[in-house]
Amino acid sequence: MVMEKLYQKLDRQWDEMVKIRRHFHQNPELSFKEVQTAQYIINYYNELGIEVRSNVGGNGIVAKIYGSHPGKTVALRADFDALPIHDLKDVPYRSKVPGVMHACGHDGHTATLLVLAKTLYELKDELHGNVVLIHQHAEEYSPGGAKPMIEDGCLEGVDVIFGTHLWATEPLGSIHYRVGPIMAAADRFEITIKGAGGHGAQPHKTKDSIVVGAQLVTELQQIVSRRVNPIEPAVVSVGSFVAENAFNVIADQAKLIGTVRTFNEDVRDLIENEIERIVKGVCYSTDCDYEYVFDRGYPAVVNHLEETNFLQAHTSQVPGVTSIDEIEMQMGGEDFAYYLQHVKGTFFFTGAKQEGIDKPFPHHHPRFDFNEKAMLIAAKTLATATIHYQLQNKK
Ligand code: MN
Repeated sequence: MVMEKLYQKLDRQWDEMVKIRRHFHQNPELSFKEVQTAQYIINYYNELGIEVRSNVGGNGIVAKIYGSHPGKTVALRADFDALPIHDLKDVPYRSKVPGVMHACGHDGHTATLLVLAKTLYELKDELHGNVVLIHQHAEEYSPGGAKPMIEDGCLEGVDVIFGTHLWATEPLGSIHYRVGPIMAAADRFEITIKGAGGHGAQPHKTKDSIVVGAQLVTELQQIVSRRVNPIEPAVVSVGSFVAENAFNVIADQAKLIGTVRTFNEDVRDLIENEIERIVKGVCYSTDCDYEYVFDRGYPAVVNHLEETNFLQAHTSQVPGVTSIDEIEMQMGGEDFAYYLQHVKGTFFFTGAKQEGIDKPFPHHHPRFDFNEKAMLIAAKTLATATIHYQLQNKK
């Protein structure tokens, strides 16, 4: 009964969702700089009379809806930062900020959560428990906004958390879940090789940092192929190799920057140490010095068993959902990981492919866009999980 009402209310407010999403899309702000976006969200809650706390762990915002009946507190999270990408789409709602773009759909996440909050608030007399709306800043840029928001109390009193990411490459109506690890830990490493530069014609009087770097790129491939247990997924990728120099000069220094993706903390530790072992060994044999930095990004997103199965079981009744599939582990990172280290919950993907487009542009692409109808499905799926979780655990 309450679900029907909720679905109908959401249907009627889809236009507003689109309007809000397009406003954010035209006015994107980078991670840790989302001042106007945060203000818009605060104003929205203030106008509705919903309790809201600003500057939570930075630009984060937490709103709270008190249900009329006692029960569990469900948290829903949406991120709201954009990316340093120049919007190349030809649409009326294209970004108005040069070099900044909502290229991951966080504008959609925020519009979805705002309108869903409004709808849940209208039905507060039928809620068995409270709902906490976590509007998170800075997801795209490590160390991220989730950690400081948790430290600032955004999960206080929360029993369970649900979150979704719109996924523009998957069909509208599809929901993708996974029990256990769903997204990888994402770390960054930086190796500086300190050789000895000199004349390109007299290599015997130098220590060639480019030759050492080239050797390292090759040696690093052994980590995943020969040192990590083959049943454990892992990636070591060198994304940058820079030794700027004239054509006839031996490079004094070379810098390698790369990313490591893992799901298991032991594998993560192993790779951090093995990279250094290789760097040390190669530099010893070539008589070079080095600097090595391993920056830990977000840990792996690990979904809880019961809550994930719960979401999966209740999603089939959501209008517009046509398929629910368990997906493979994704090597991308997400700081939703931190919430799941503190409370039970699950993170899932909502298909958001645009109609009539065969090959959609992927997330973080300058022509990225998504099907706005997916916001309605995301809202309904989150609402269904929230209401049913509270009903099932009614006091
Ligand atoms: Mn994202």
